[in-house]
Amino acid sequence: MNINDTAEQAAFRTEVREWIEKSVPPALKGLRQGIVQGPGLSQEALQPLDKALDEKGWLAPHWPKEYGGAGFDLGQLVIFTEEFDRAGVPDRHTSGLDMLAPILMRYGSDEQKEKFLTPTLRGEITWAQGYSEPQAGSDLASLALKCEVTDEGFILNGQKIWTSKAHVSDWIFVLVRTDTNVERRQDGISFLLCDLKNSPGITVRNIITIDGFHHFNETFFDNVVVPKENLVGELNKGWTVAKALLGHERFMHPTSDPYKMGRAVDNLKASAREMPAGGGVLWDDARLRQRVVSMEMDIDCMRYTRLRALSKVQKGEEPGPETMIFKMFGAELMQKIVDLHQDVMGPAGTIWEASPIEGETGETARHDTNIRAATIRGGTSEVQRNIIAKRVLGLPD
Ligand SMILES: Cc1cc2nc3c(=O)[nH]c(=O)nc-3n(C[C@H](O)[C@H](O)[C@H](O)COP(=O)(O)OP(=O)(O)OC[C@H]3O[C@@H](n4cnc5c(N)ncnc54)[C@H](O)[C@@H]3O)c2cc1C
Repeated sequence: MNINDTAEQAAFRTEVREWIEKSVPPALKGLRQGIVQGPGLSQEALQPLDKALDEKGWLAPHWPKEYGGAGFDLGQLVIFTEEFDRAGVPDRHTSGLDMLAPILMRYGSDEQKEKFLTPTLRGEITWAQGYSEPQAGSDLASLALKCEVTDEGFILNGQKIWTSKAHVSDWIFVLVRTDTNVERRQDGISFLLCDLKNSPGITVRNIITIDGFHHFNETFFDNVVVPKENLVGELNKGWTVAKALLGHERFMHPTSDPYKMGRAVDNLKASAREMPAGGGVLWDDARLRQRVVSMEMDIDCMRYTRLRALSKVQKGEEPGPETMIFKMFGAELMQKIVDLHQDVMGPAGTIWEASPIEGETGETARHDTNIRAATIRGGTSEVQRNIIAKRVLGLPD
């Protein structure tokens, strides 16, 4: 694997860099978003960027051209991400773009693709994920949201929990129990698309997390009717669809993105170079520099492992078992970076709102607290370890 830019790639890099320079509004450049997972920027704040990306045809760099994406190859995708991260420009990771859309492209009907892909691309339809239930998190196959199949459509009764952004989303993709009389719990599950805004019987109730943000919700379904054409894939075979979507969630999420981590470390290095300590600055401390270098080495390992997996995909091969570690390793590494950031900031790291030292909202205690969730969402680290032990290493239960 050659990791240097070819002449063509170098030209593409220049194109992306110059485009960012010229077309991204100054307020959306130089942001220190790399480390945070909080609510981030509002949809309104991002609109000028979306408009510029849309005009250039770069709204969804990883989508194929036939669905309105940029159709970038692997090399271009990497360069695109690097240049956006270098310039501190926020990316457009959403559950619609990164999780649902690839699923609709693979399993959706022509009507579903027609109806949902373009509005999702343009941000006109936003999506929540309805997987977890109070008794079904890690053990997702025990989900029980009741779904009757009738001539009228599907009728849903039950509850989902931890539904991120359901209060501001238009639709929800939801896993339901369409058959209880099954040998394997993974059977009898179906994958539906449900209109959150216009379906009578849906109640979205907020959960405020320790960082004070409203990100989570409980979503209740009381005789909610979902039209039959909103079934994705086959009836009772939703587990296959659900698992494929989780693969995209674990691969695409910013916590698996080494470029973001690299930027987070660069930011904390910059803080350490300014932070007074013992008559000099914190950066003079060799032990601190050693911790930083160790993290940078981990990030590089992750970057090249990710490139190896992506290059297999590009050659039409299945990515190897290494993809299993991205979510777990990335989330744990991000937490280590945040811990080090807290050490660097000292008392200033406890400031809850925008820190005058950092100069913006990116890395205050509130956001650093939020990163604790990284090893839970999309499959906890403990469960990831179980999966790796069983499926990759072939160890017994
Ligand atoms: C930031 C964030 C966003 C989320 N967004 C969504 C969303 O939009 N939609 C959605 O549906 N869900 C969402 N979730 C929920 C998430 O998928 C679940 O929290 C996760 O699957 C864990 O389930 P649980 O919380 O029920 O914990 P549990 O499954 O009850 O686990 C509790 C503890 O037990 C451990 N444990 C469980 N089983 C085992 C085992 N077999 N071996 C060893 N240890 C085990 C776990 O690791 C964990 O530490 C989100 C969660 C977070 C943190």
